[in-house]
Amino acid sequence: MDCKLVLRSGGEPVRFEVGRGVIIGGEEPVVIAGPCSVEDPEMIVETAMHVKRVLVEKLGLRNVVIRGGAWKPRTSPYSFQGHGEKALEWLREAGDKAGLPVATEVMDPRHVGIAAEYVDVIWVGARNMQNTPLLRELAKTDKPVLLKRHFGATINEWLCAAEYLLAGGNDRVALVERGTRGFNEYARFTLDITVVPVVHEVSRLPVIVDVSHPAGKRSLVPPLIAAALAAGADGVMLEVHPRPDKALSDAKQQLSFEMFEEAFTGLRRRGLI
Ligand code: PEP
Ligand code: MN
Repeated sequence: MDCKLVLRSGGEPVRFEVGRGVIIGGEEPVVIAGPCSVEDPEMIVETAMHVKRVLVEKLGLRNVVIRGGAWKPRTSPYSFQGHGEKALEWLREAGDKAGLPVATEVMDPRHVGIAAEYVDVIWVGARNMQNTPLLRELAKTDKPVLLKRHFGATINEWLCAAEYLLAGGNDRVALVERGTRGFNEYARFTLDITVVPVVHEVSRLPVIVDVSHPAGKRSLVPPLIAAALAAGADGVMLEVHPRPDKALSDAKQQLSFEMFEEAFTGLRRRGLI
């Protein structure tokens, strides 16, 4: 493999600040939580304040980021596609209110500049892992990038996609595992937890686990958070919504506020967070 900047031998272990003192790749795992999509200004504020109350105020965690989609990669063109730039404004306001950094997904290279005006972290969704014009554009921003693994990609393909970012000048990069296609018809994707120790062995990039998209169903989310943290992930990403059954995207997998609080209190009891 000629993608060498991402390897352990490519330099120091990657560790970076995303804003407001939140560190990715440090001692404590990061928790990136929020709705699948930013649906309106109120729901994102409600969610950000709940995440802050539980994780920061109750459990004393420091590495917390609010997520929310503005441009959504939907399977059907008739499904809700996201509110675009308006959603970014609402997300930023919610983050400022909660005092937490915010993250969103960008799919189109033309949106990188707009997103960078509003958010602290940009993620590349699974479907765009090898969208090389997007990766080249993101290599030029001063924002950290989280690169999700495509559900059909090998580890080396994923690492080489990350190499585009590093080679282009952006070394504030973390990898995100979010499940691959498999044979388990009871979950949406198969969460490949082995990538956590594998990435730590071969790469100097932090690895975060998105536990919501492989689950596809909210009851499966809390055990997957535990699995990711027990395996040594540098963080978890998950979806939480004030009224998940009414969500405009991924209604089945988003945690309710109650389940979110219960899940993280349980993790604390078990010493996992
Ligand atoms: C998301 O995080 O909302 C998302 C669409 O995830 P993925 O790209 O992993 O499917
Ligand atoms: Mn989603």
